[in-house]
Order: sequence, then structure tokens, then C-alpha cells
Amino acid sequence: MKKKKVKWHRILILVTVLILFLFGAFLVIEGIIKDKEAPPEEPVSEEPIEEPSKEPVEEPVDEPEEPIKEPEKEPEKPDEPEKPIDQNITIVENPGAIDVLVNRTNNLPDTYVPEDLVKLTDVPTVLSNPEINQLRKSAYEALVELFSAAKNEAEYELFARSGYRSYNTQVSLYSSYVANHGQAAADTFSAKPGQSEHQTGLSMDITCEAMNFLLDDTFGQTDEGKWVAENAHRFGFIIRYPKGKEDITGYMYEPWHIRFLGIEMATEVFESGLTLEEYFEQ
Ligand SMILES: [Zn+2]
Repeated sequence: MKKKKVKWHRILILVTVLILFLFGAFLVIEGIIKDKEAPPEEPVSEEPIEEPSKEPVEEPVDEPEEPIKEPEKEPEKPDEPEKPIDQNITIVENPGAIDVLVNRTNNLPDTYVPEDLVKLTDVPTVLSNPEINQLRKSAYEALVELFSAAKNEAEYELFARSGYRSYNTQVSLYSSYVANHGQAAADTFSAKPGQSEHQTGLSMDITCEAMNFLLDDTFGQTDEGKWVAENAHRFGFIIRYPKGKEDITGYMYEPWHIRFLGIEMATEVFESGLTLEEYFEQ
């Protein structure tokens, strides 16, 4: 019996040792396997790289989206209307000259204010804003002559609606047009700040009772509008934005917008049938 007990003891010890041995061997083998897997870990780590590379792929997708959007924004807006204009924009050096050319590419300095603005005291006006009821002295005196000739020669009563406009007023006006109509539409009928002839103090928007004192291109079909188109040059004014010359002037037909140039030049421009842009280029 004792011998058997001893034997069982020995067997238990052997089995225990064996188990420990096998466990130890297992750990060693697993260690080796891990070592062997270590190289695979690199390939495995390539997977993580692939994963990150999936992220980078996703990131680039995100990044391109922004860059693509930006390039789209820039090409669409700046590239078409703004960039070329920005690149081609010249700030005029003679803002106070009577024959200054102001348009989408020839801009007035933002600080320019004519020195000889006067109030429109002797012509009928439509609006009460004191700023726009001003013109440079020579243009105003010519406007008085134009309006009185219309009355005396044809019994037409003309009204001054909008004359001088400051750079800051144009900033507000243009912003509100863009907000209400979008930039593309606004750019067809509104000047950007610095690009408005009204800032020269040499331009006036005129209307009449038949127009309900408003401004639109039907003014050109009214008796008053026809008379102005035929006679304005005699007093030193031209129709600055003629019909069909939108590509050259950058503005749609505006039969109501007259620009003072002095009688001599206005008459030459009128007789040439050219826009002011074309007149200066010839
Ligand atoms: Zn105008």
C-alpha cells in the first residue's frame, strides 16, 4: 500500500513536471513563432500602412474636395469676372480729369472725391439724398443747359435722379445688389466700388414723368429719351452705355445714364458712333 502511494506520488510529480515542461515548451515555441511572425508583422504593418493609406486616400479625398472647391470658386468667380479684372485693373492717374475713363478695368482710387461738387439747385430732382443730388460744377452747369433746352425746344421736362456717388455708397449699393440678385447678375448692371462713373461726379441718371421717375431701358423709347439721345452732345453729354455695346462698355444699355465730357469731345464721340472706350482706342 505504501509503495503504491509512493508510486502515485511519483506519477503525480512526473505528470506535473511534464505539464510544466510542455507549458514551458509551448511558451518557447510561441516565442519563436512570434519572432517568426515579427517579420510578418512588417507585412502586417504594411496593412496598417494600407489602412493609413486608406485614410490618406480618404484625406486626399477630403483635401481635394476643398482644393477642388477653392479652385472652382476661384476659377468661377475670380477667373471669369474678378481675376482677369484684378490682373487688368488700372487705377486711373487722372481721376479729376474731365475726360477720365472709368470702367471695369480703369478704376478710381477709393479715396477719390471730386473737389468741385455742387448741389443741384436749379434742376428738378427725384430723390432727397443730398449726396446723389450733386455733380461737379462744369457738369452741373451743362445739365442745367440741357434740361432748359429740353423744355424750351421740345417742352420736355427732365428730372435728375442720381448724380455723384461716393466710393462707400457704391460699396453698399453693390453689396445689396449681390445679396439680392447674386454676383453674376449684379455685375451686369452694377458697378463695383471704384468702377462707377458716378464717383467722378460727371455722370447723371435722368428720367421723366412718363417713366414714373424710374430708370429702365424703356426711357430710350420715350420722347424725352429720344430727344436726349439726339441732343445731349450739344451740351457736353453722351449716352455712356449704348445699346448693343455691352461687351465693350461692360454694362447693359442705359439710355438714362449721361456722362459729361465737354461739348467738343461729346460731339466727337456722338458723331463717331463709338463708345467712349472705342473713342479713346482709335
Ligand atoms: Zn448711372
